[in-house]
Amino acid sequence: MPEKKIGIILDDDFGSKHIPPYPKPSFISFEHPVRINCILNHLERNGIFKDNRVVKVKPKKIDDAILELAHSKYHIETIKKISDVGGGLLDEEVFVTEDTFDLAKKAVGGAIEAIEGVVKNIFTQSFALIRPPGHHAHREKSSGLCIFNNIANSILYLRKKLSFSEKIAIIDIDDHFGDGLAQYFYDDPSVLYFSIHEFDFTEGALGMVDELGMDEGIGKNINFPVPEGITNADFYYCIDLLDPILNEFQPALIVVATGFDMYYADPIGNCSLTSIAYNKFADKILKIAENVCEGKISFILEGGYDIIGLPFCVEAIIKALLKEKYEPPDYEKNLSFLDDSKRKEIDKIKTFLKNLLNPYWTKIKI
Ligand SMILES: [Zn+2]
Repeated sequence: MPEKKIGIILDDDFGSKHIPPYPKPSFISFEHPVRINCILNHLERNGIFKDNRVVKVKPKKIDDAILELAHSKYHIETIKKISDVGGGLLDEEVFVTEDTFDLAKKAVGGAIEAIEGVVKNIFTQSFALIRPPGHHAHREKSSGLCIFNNIANSILYLRKKLSFSEKIAIIDIDDHFGDGLAQYFYDDPSVLYFSIHEFDFTEGALGMVDELGMDEGIGKNINFPVPEGITNADFYYCIDLLDPILNEFQPALIVVATGFDMYYADPIGNCSLTSIAYNKFADKILKIAENVCEGKISFILEGGYDIIGLPFCVEAIIKALLKEKYEPPDYEKNLSFLDDSKRKEIDKIKTFLKNLLNPYWTKIKI
C-alpha cells in the first residue's frame, strides 16, 4: 500500500460565487457559498490541513468540450447565456447567477481532478468540496439545484479521454435519489449505481426499488429507498448490502456521491443521521475499497445544507480516511431520537430488493 495522500479539492470561488438570489423564501436558498466556508473553517480550526497526508488541490482547468462529454451543446449554451445576462431562475429549484456557468464548470473540473488523481495514484483517496452539486443534472437540463453532472462528467472523461475502461461503482448517499446520475449509466454494466435515498412511498417517484437498469446494465442500478426518519442504526443496516455487492462487482474505483442531507438537522432532508454515521460509512467503504480496489475512493460533495452539522460530517469522513478517531460534537450525544428505528419498514424493502437482485448477483444471500 503506497503512502497515504488525501487530495482535498478546493477553490475560493466555491465559497463566494453562485449566491442564491435573495429575498427568496424557498429552499433554493440553502445551496449557498456558506456551505463551503463553514467546512473549510472547521477543517482549518481542527488541524486537518496540518496533517501532511492531506493536500489541498485546485480543480482541473477544463474547456467546454469536456462538458460536452456529458451535456448537450444546447444545455451548455443555455447556462452560459443566462449567466451572461446576469442570471435568472430556470425553475423553482435551479437558480442561475452571472457567475454560475464558470462555477459549475469549475465544479466539474473539481470532480475530475479528484477522480483522475485517485485513478493515477496521485492521491490514495480524494474529497472534492465543490458546488453547485450535480447528481440531479441530466444531459439536456439542470435540475434540483444541480447545473452540470459533476460525477457523470468525470466518469465520461475517464472513459473517453483517459481510456479508463475498468469497472466503477458509484455510491450515492445523498438524501435524494440521483435521478440524473442514474440515467447516464442505466444500461451500462461497467458502472454500478447504488443509491440509498429518502422516498415518499405514498407519492411514487423515480428511485423506486424495482428500477434495476436495462439491457446490458440490468442489475447494476440498485435503488434502496427508505422511509423518512431513518436513524444511524437503520442506515448501517441498509449499507450492509454494500459488502456483498462491491465484493462481487470488484470495481477498480469507487465514487461516492456525498450528500449530507440525511443529517438530522438538515433543512431539506427528513432523516435522522448524526455525523458518526458518515464516519462509520467511510470506514466501511474504505475497508471494502482496500480489499477490492487498492483503496481507490473519491468523495464528491453533493447536497447537505445544515451549516452547523455539515462541517462535522465532512470531518467525520476525512478522519475515517486517515484512520483516526472521530469525536462527534457534544450536542449530538443525547438526542432523543437516537434509538428510534424504522427497521420493520426497511426490512420489507431490503428483502424485496434482495429478491429482485438475486438473478443478477450470486453472493447476496437472503
Ligand atoms: Zn439532496
